[in-house]
Amino acid sequence: MSSPAIPRRAQRLAELADRRFDLLVIGGGITGAGIARDAARRGLAVALVEREDFASGTSSRSSRLIHGGVRYLEHGYLHLVFEASRERRRLLDLAPHLVRPLRFTWPVYRGARVPRWKLAAGLTLYDALALFKNVGRHKRLGPDDVAALEPALERRDLRGGASYWDAATDDARLTLANAIDAAHASATVLNHVEVTALTFSSAHGPADGAIVRDRIGGQELRVQARVVLNAAGPWTDEISRMEDGAARPAVRGTKGVHIAVPAARVGNSAAVTMLSPDDGRVMFTLPSGTHTIIGTTDTATTEHPHEVRAARADVRYLLSACNRFFPAARLGEDDVVSAWAGIRPLVARGNSGDPSSASREHAITHSPRGVLTITGGKLTTYRAMAEQCVDEAVRHLGIRTRPCDTYKVPLPGARPPARPDDRLLLAGLPWREQDVLHAVQEEMAESVSDVLIRRTTLAFETRDYGRTVAPHVASLMAKHLKWTDAGERTSVEEFARETDRIFSITP
Ligand SMILES: Cc1cc2nc3c(=O)[nH]c(=O)nc-3n(C[C@H](O)[C@H](O)[C@H](O)COP(=O)(O)OP(=O)(O)OC[C@H]3O[C@@H](n4cnc5c(N)ncnc54)[C@H](O)[C@@H]3O)c2cc1C
Repeated sequence: MSSPAIPRRAQRLAELADRRFDLLVIGGGITGAGIARDAARRGLAVALVEREDFASGTSSRSSRLIHGGVRYLEHGYLHLVFEASRERRRLLDLAPHLVRPLRFTWPVYRGARVPRWKLAAGLTLYDALALFKNVGRHKRLGPDDVAALEPALERRDLRGGASYWDAATDDARLTLANAIDAAHASATVLNHVEVTALTFSSAHGPADGAIVRDRIGGQELRVQARVVLNAAGPWTDEISRMEDGAARPAVRGTKGVHIAVPAARVGNSAAVTMLSPDDGRVMFTLPSGTHTIIGTTDTATTEHPHEVRAARADVRYLLSACNRFFPAARLGEDDVVSAWAGIRPLVARGNSGDPSSASREHAITHSPRGVLTITGGKLTTYRAMAEQCVDEAVRHLGIRTRPCDTYKVPLPGARPPARPDDRLLLAGLPWREQDVLHAVQEEMAESVSDVLIRRTTLAFETRDYGRTVAPHVASLMAKHLKWTDAGERTSVEEFARETDRIFSITP
């Protein structure tokens, strides 16, 4: 059965002002989108508002892995690995168009911090915590086996290693699939709508909604809701301070950088787990079509989440690791196709030490005036986080709803099938004009940035971040969104500014 069409933006804005919602979700990253979907499917009246675009924050800057979290074993977070492994299995089943198995090779060199015996023990535990239901079990490898799987890896001092399985996704499209399904389940879902203030029933009463601003049309609206939920990721504390200017920070942000380089230069055949030669941290070399993505860093930061970007030192750190493991790559800064950064919205309480060993668990709290806040977590565990958060909201509402069903209902969000007359946007990349039209008609894309950065990943994959095709994309969109010539130009200019903001490297 096909899903109902998502109402047009004007109608959704009118609903936002007219309906009284059970739940207002602030933030359209994976956390907020997952919560909106779960709550709407249980029958709650839900509004989801996102200041920019769905996944424009951390949820489009991840390593794009749906993983048990092999490195959390070292820190003893076994329950987190157990939960993440279960969610990985579910997402592989429920969203095969968005989540696919990915083989990792972990080479071990002489003197490595994690020797072969320890790696084998850890990966046996990794398989066990997945109840041996992962797509494949790990294999111990001798040096020749490692070289057969990943011939471009350094051979000198190679002692062997192991292969194991996790999964890869498209983080922005996974987020979008949840936002779309929330809308299909009657949630009022809007991107480019910003919460500017919270509202309260009386001077000291509980939160009862928010003032929002439509960043496209410019108008302000009051949204009424019985429960307000703060799922603003690294912006969580900004929302909390709308209730209490002196609220203690709930989030500790750590910065993670990735770079994309031409895959042909690295020569990896699948994913490779590396221990950084500089500080021994676990890092990855990940396949991504014609590119290889290298990441990530994990450092404390005071940068604002809107402005966070890769620094030259981050880029050098990543290149140095990759060159050590893949010596023929000889990558230099000029080989970097794109570099970007995101902020992990980690739970602040109890997480003051080394960023890499900080817990990825999540926390759900109530503010003094009843605002529910969710912090921490991972892309991988978003569905379980959403389930717990909606359980909490339902308790708060004191009503009965249908049970959670997101553990068994497939996610939408497949790309449209190719058509014979469809034109590529750029040679060598898999994006077509049909993707642009589909993004506008079915996926709430409102700007060139929405299409080139988050409905496709074209901006991450080209040296000019897709600026060559931006005018053409704008002209395709203009017909459907009834843009004027000036509107078309503005969207292209905004795209140039946004790609500058995301991809420029600070000295
Ligand atoms: C470098 C890096 C690599 C990672 N890799 C992985 C990985 O491979 N696998 C994994 O499982 N996890 C990974 N993670 C973790 C995962 O990406 C995050 O936990 C997750 O994306 C956080 O999502 P979120 O929805 O909480 O935050 P966000 O995605 O940042 O969403 C918050 C949203 O709130 C919106 N917002 C803010 N203020 C307002 C307002 N006033 N009104 C309306 N909306 C507002 C923002 O625009 C934003 O879109 C990684 C994280 C980083 C940084």
